Amino acid sequence: MSWTDRQRAMLEAMGLKLWTPPAASDAAPALPIAPMPAAAPAPRAAPAVPMAAPVRRGEVPVELPAEVAVAEPPAPRRVAEVLAKALPSATPAAPPPASTSGPSREAIARLDWPALRDEVAACRACSLCESRKNTVFGVGNERAHWMVVGEAPGEQEDLKGEPFVGAAGKLLDSMLRALGLSREEAPPQRQVYIANTLKCRPPRNRNPDPAELAQCEPFLQRQIELIQPRIILAMGRFAVQQLLRSQEPIGRLRGRVHRYQGVPLIVTYHPAYLLRNLPDKARAWEDLCLALKTLDETPARAGDQDGSV
Ligand code: URA
Repeated sequence: MSWTDRQRAMLEAMGLKLWTPPAASDAAPALPIAPMPAAAPAPRAAPAVPMAAPVRRGEVPVELPAEVAVAEPPAPRRVAEVLAKALPSATPAAPPPASTSGPSREAIARLDWPALRDEVAACRACSLCESRKNTVFGVGNERAHWMVVGEAPGEQEDLKGEPFVGAAGKLLDSMLRALGLSREEAPPQRQVYIANTLKCRPPRNRNPDPAELAQCEPFLQRQIELIQPRIILAMGRFAVQQLLRSQEPIGRLRGRVHRYQGVPLIVTYHPAYLLRNLPDKARAWEDLCLALKTLDETPARAGDQDGSV
């Protein structure tokens, strides 16, 4: 099998170098990448798979279990909580509590874009509102063919109010570029929409709490309903498990086409995870190929002029 320019560009954009056998390019495997077990030692002979890019400055690989939470481990219990138990009378005045109930799921399901945006910006339905600097609503084409769903804003996203603007975001942009896509202004088949399952940053990037995910879910659901994407790329454990209502690890869910309310959904690794687990970039590349193929086989939406990517 020979490589198309697009495939080469995709690999390069993801930091993978293509190795072609000197004289026998016909013997290349039908699938570009033989998945490398995460813990396998690097082969000594010239490998028949694209090599992961060297670690760049600032991308220190760390040892993580195969299905890694992208966020840091939960922080220790807050000092205030401990104090409250030990010395109830000495507890400092708490900030105004977040309301326990936001707008109802039904009310959110009726909102248009401006109202939905306002509702997210004003949301105080869970305690994340107390530590956030900005809500992170989402960016992109409101009729995008491609929708990327990530997990939760990190520090940079919280500061800017935009998803995926940190190091992981740069890798995401490269992955999108490899697909001929961008978050920048473009027609709906080229400009993606990017949103997260959580609209507020969990303090110290701790893992999202199930209650927070449940509380925030109607916002994402409404975004998906309004966009009606032709394909969803779900990145990372929390996004994937939330959308698919599954507890399965990503490794078991990727490689096939799922559906979210009828929309084809492809599971892949979170870019932040990929920055620390370079061999899995090859698997992520396979996921992107599957997404492209799936979209090619998906009928155009009513009203779309050109369904192709
Ligand atoms: N990780 C995410 O899942 N989303 C962001 O917006 C940033 C990092």
